[in-house]
Amino acid sequence: MTTDPRRAVPRTDTVLAEPQVAAAVARLGRDLVKTAVQAAQQQVREGALAPDDVVPAVLDGLPGSTSSLRPVLNATGVLVHTNLGRAPLSPAAVDAVVAASGTTDVEIDLATGRRGPRGEGALGALLDAVPAAGAALVVNNCAAALALVATALGGELVIARGELVEIGDGFRIPELITSTGARLREVGTTNRVAVADYTGALGPDTGAVLKVHPSNFVVRGFTRSADVAELSTALAGTGVPLVADVGSGLLRPHPLLPDEPDLQTTLAGGADLALCSGDKLLGGPQAGIVLGRAELVQRLRRHPLYRALRVDKTTLAALEATLRGPVPPVRRMLDADLAGLRARAAAVAAALRARGVEADAVEATARVGGGGAPEFELPSAAVAVPLAFAGPLRAASTPVVGYAAGDRTHLDLRSLAPADDERLTAMVLEVAATWT
Ligand SMILES: *Cc1c(COP(=O)(O)O)cnc(C)c1O
Repeated sequence: MTTDPRRAVPRTDTVLAEPQVAAAVARLGRDLVKTAVQAAQQQVREGALAPDDVVPAVLDGLPGSTSSLRPVLNATGVLVHTNLGRAPLSPAAVDAVVAASGTTDVEIDLATGRRGPRGEGALGALLDAVPAAGAALVVNNCAAALALVATALGGELVIARGELVEIGDGFRIPELITSTGARLREVGTTNRVAVADYTGALGPDTGAVLKVHPSNFVVRGFTRSADVAELSTALAGTGVPLVADVGSGLLRPHPLLPDEPDLQTTLAGGADLALCSGDKLLGGPQAGIVLGRAELVQRLRRHPLYRALRVDKTTLAALEATLRGPVPPVRRMLDADLAGLRARAAAVAAALRARGVEADAVEATARVGGGGAPEFELPSAAVAVPLAFAGPLRAASTPVVGYAAGDRTHLDLRSLAPADDERLTAMVLEVAATWT
């Protein structure tokens, strides 16, 4: 008598009851596991899998986690890479996110049991970090901060033609602003604007004067612009607020980046509001930070749109930990000394060569990225591996993204935490092992 394997397809309930499969259900949820069970059953029906091998096949076919987002090693040399999630959170911020993930006291006063101010810890950390600010507000990202400002202050926003910036992926700040119903009053020319251009454009409908840091491009040659201090002096007594979008989120001036505006200097220089992203050079979670005069911040907080733009508890937790805790990874990468980077590149290259992989430590050029300091080149060190490794490295068990440089793939170490060097080495070895 012949046995037809198709008759012996194990029942779904039987497979799901196997201890290892049941454990997977607890970890990944029933739907994901059931899909893997059904795929294995189908293989049995097709005669491609023995009925006794269903459980191992199911376990093999399960995803490692319930999220499709995976950790990726950023060896691009771009410190703040928007496509790779911008700033990596510090371990302290990750801990804070985990702690706040459950039910948490984000908006309750535990002493009285009554509702408390939302995210007070994060707001306090912002005010401590930027003493020139009278109050703070956190929204989803800097674009949301701009939309809230344009909506709440409204009317006509006076802005220089040279500051009508496209952020990236087709998003243009002027379009974002006009989408709120606010109108733009453009002043000056592409390359030049004077204080008198701004003051000449003020009228009864003026809601604010807006300065946007042209963070991803530079205009050179016959240029002129009005800085925050000049504009603030000129606007004194007019009642028109001066709003500055500084973009990258430096709290204080950074010696390496003299052309990047910072929050403290911008506010001390007379801006009424300063806006920035949380996940660029600040090194924290995606967020839009609004700092400045208390009455203006309060106006934004009271606007109905704020409710649609506010951030969740995990963002507040990560932001507070970024501001209060140890120096975040992006800042460590920015400040990393070249000798140390060269030593890391030499060590990784030597470890690879010892295993027969063609690899060399080379000089490289890193960048801030995320639309910040576009012209600024950071000397760096990279590991050069064969050009053809680029694709397989992106498909490795921990994907690695480098860049092509001539006939090699370069893996820049400035954009990678030193603790990840070992994993980088392992991933190159993983690729080399399958290389013929
Ligand atoms: C990056 C940037 C933005 C957009 O910030 P998001 O946080 O990505 O919304 C806006 N303005 C400037 C000047 C920027 O550099």
